[in-house]
Amino acid sequence: MKREVMESLHQQETVRQQIIAFLKEGPATALDISQHVHISEKEVYEHLTHVKKSVASRGETLRIHPAECLKCGFVFKERKRFRTPGRCPVCKFTHLRKPSYEIARG
Ligand SMILES: [Zn+2]
Repeated sequence: MKREVMESLHQQETVRQQIIAFLKEGPATALDISQHVHISEKEVYEHLTHVKKSVASRGETLRIHPAECLKCGFVFKERKRFRTPGRCPVCKFTHLRKPSYEIARG
């Protein structure tokens, strides 16, 4: 493998470990994570997919606290993807509490 590729992979792994450590401290949104590890929110979502698998192999769970409508209280439980929804399907309100993530044992 090329040296640059190796370094890039190492960097990705380091970022992932930082995200895992951060989420063990308590719930954080994608924005919190992006600011903590200095990557874009888009990259955070990509990492979360791997973080989920990575912690699962160690008997831990990536808990997702789903997005919630701040007007009618609708909870986006059905949402399988990590990305934040744009608006509430019930009342069309666009002010939503962003989902947050946390790593817990079991
Ligand atoms: Zn709503």
